[in-house]
Amino acid sequence: MDNYDFYKPLGDAISTYIHNEDTKNEIYSAYLFALEAHKDQKRASGEPYIIHPIEVAKTLCDYHADPTTLLAAILHDVIEDTSKTFDDIKNNFGMEVANLVEGLTKIRKMTYTDTTSLKRSDENEYASNFQKMLFSMVRDIRVIWIKLSDRLNNMLTLKYLPYEKQIRISKETQAIYAPIAHKLGMYQIKAELEDLSFKYLYPQEYEEISKKLKTTKKAREADLNKMATDIHDLLKSEGIEADISKRVKNINSIYNKMEKKGIPFENIYDLQALRAIVKTVIDCYKAIGIIHSKYAPVPSRFKDYIAVPKPNMYQSLHTTVVNDGKIYEIQIRTKEMDEIAENGIAAHWAYKEGVKLKSNYYESTASKLRWYNDLLKYTSGDEEEKQEITTLFSEDVLNANVYVFTPKNTVISLPEGSTPIDFAYRIHSRIGDNFTGAIVNGKIVPLDYVFKTGDVCEIKTSANAYGPNENWLKIAKTSSARSKIKQFLNKKNKDLLIEQGKNSILQEIKNQKLDLVLTDELVIKRSSPEKQFKNLEDLYYACGKGQFSAISILNDFIQSDLSNSEKIIDLINKRNKNRVYHEDVDIIVEGLDTPSVKLAHCCSPIPGDDIVGYITKGVGIAIHRSDCKNIKGFDENRFIPVFWAENKDKRFQVDLKLFVFNRDNILADIINTSIAYNCKVIKVTARANDINEGIINLTLEVINKSELDLMISNLEKIKGIYQIERVKR
Ligand code: MN
Repeated sequence: MDNYDFYKPLGDAISTYIHNEDTKNEIYSAYLFALEAHKDQKRASGEPYIIHPIEVAKTLCDYHADPTTLLAAILHDVIEDTSKTFDDIKNNFGMEVANLVEGLTKIRKMTYTDTTSLKRSDENEYASNFQKMLFSMVRDIRVIWIKLSDRLNNMLTLKYLPYEKQIRISKETQAIYAPIAHKLGMYQIKAELEDLSFKYLYPQEYEEISKKLKTTKKAREADLNKMATDIHDLLKSEGIEADISKRVKNINSIYNKMEKKGIPFENIYDLQALRAIVKTVIDCYKAIGIIHSKYAPVPSRFKDYIAVPKPNMYQSLHTTVVNDGKIYEIQIRTKEMDEIAENGIAAHWAYKEGVKLKSNYYESTASKLRWYNDLLKYTSGDEEEKQEITTLFSEDVLNANVYVFTPKNTVISLPEGSTPIDFAYRIHSRIGDNFTGAIVNGKIVPLDYVFKTGDVCEIKTSANAYGPNENWLKIAKTSSARSKIKQFLNKKNKDLLIEQGKNSILQEIKNQKLDLVLTDELVIKRSSPEKQFKNLEDLYYACGKGQFSAISILNDFIQSDLSNSEKIIDLINKRNKNRVYHEDVDIIVEGLDTPSVKLAHCCSPIPGDDIVGYITKGVGIAIHRSDCKNIKGFDENRFIPVFWAENKDKRFQVDLKLFVFNRDNILADIINTSIAYNCKVIKVTARANDINEGIINLTLEVINKSELDLMISNLEKIKGIYQIERVKR
């Protein structure tokens, strides 16, 4: 075979839109360069390797790709697969082409892990991160463009590869490249990639659906052709010229719809859509009005993507109409809109001879797309456009990610500003603790090196590493690394902290002039239970690491003013020891002359309180306060209205909890006030819970609620009492 025979199909495709002889010659010389470089290589199919890059470039000609893109497409596997280098390409074809080829070489090195073992949501997350990474790695969007074409060609020749490779590549195509094509609005290539990978991943389903498409084709087409003619004639009669064509849904989309909606093939009505291409935007709207006036539209199926284009720039009017009991989806758009619908963003890149684009055009497009990619993440389904605006901004923040490779090409995603320390801890906390240094892109870097996407990082460790220090906390960016560093430091510093804790405790004892010698035994016996100190060292450690302050620890050992009042309390408690608290109270229960009632202990009601009765088997009627927590959920049918009877002779017990600032004689003041207001003090307990605060539990005997209220308002006047609660048990 002659050299030119391989080239001819590509040469012909190029000649349809490129006429400049110098340009054509340069492309041909790239072909000769690649031919020479790949000369000893064969594809799995046995064909000469050069067929592959030729096919890739030829696909790009369908989009009228610019000459630079074509050069890079022809040379795209040269750096990776042959002895030719970046410099060889740069010297022969210039920096721009060399950069594109290098970009493709980089992408090829990324390994997409098989995510079958992951949860569905993790799998999606991984795929979406992988896509983001692609976009963020690529400085020139044409790299992606070539990659899609490369992938399409690989999928078309997949049958020559071993089964495992077929599956791996199909999965990657389905998860990464078809969605990217969709995001770029390149419908054609997306549909092809989807169907090809579907065919390998679900051969049976693929076979079934394509068979059904074939067998129903005749019947469907007869209907559709008639409808197409009717619509054409209808529009024409109103003065609108329209090209009517048909679009068949691709097999993978049909399958997705069947799966998602759980419906059989026969119930999918938008298997194919009619498309009317008209001259102007005004015609689009006129046409839809005319169609709706004759055929009944299905409510909620009308979509105006002209006024509100999809984020991938898709514009069209959609409607679904009913005719003779059959459902038809109709798309109406202009020729320009149609081109974008089919070729997406690439429609804007079509090469026009003599038109010079700004040198950074494709780069700025790429950076726009990085943003745009996230927007699209939320708009991939036709029905999901609504949330896009709100989610966009938060996603933009999340996107501040860099992607760094391990030497084995695993991708580690880190927040922007991350350093080798973050990377090391992300791999494993032991790697982080034993970290001694990092080599990035083959060079030793300082600890605070900040990663760029695409960096390859190798971590050096040693079992004898000194380990993290305080400085690492300033360098590490991720919270996971920081918390692991802190853990390590805490452990390492334990001895130091014990010493520090001991110092603060001894200092505090000295400051407060306490006559206190701490021992293990005393610590176990006197510390409050929530502190759980096992010994004195434990206590020092807790203090040293700041878990408890020296003051709060020592408080357990201090004889406070309140506890010193033990004598008074003992006295009162002894005096009241022999009093009997009587249960028989005067309560009126409607309809009962001598009710058997009992005041509930949980809320201890007193006359004047709002009360309810609850009929209890065997006990009689229990009287609760209406706001008692315990009666919630009781059987509604067993409640009974009850009232207090007037009886000045009976007294009732009530528990109060007083929150006080500790001061001399506060307890005496409380007791004096009680006596002055004729409330008997039944029981007092006091407890200091901090150096300056205490809680006093006071049980009083009162006649009724108004007497209690008076008592409380007088207690509130005592200096040092800042809160009084009536206790419900
Ligand atoms: Mn290739």
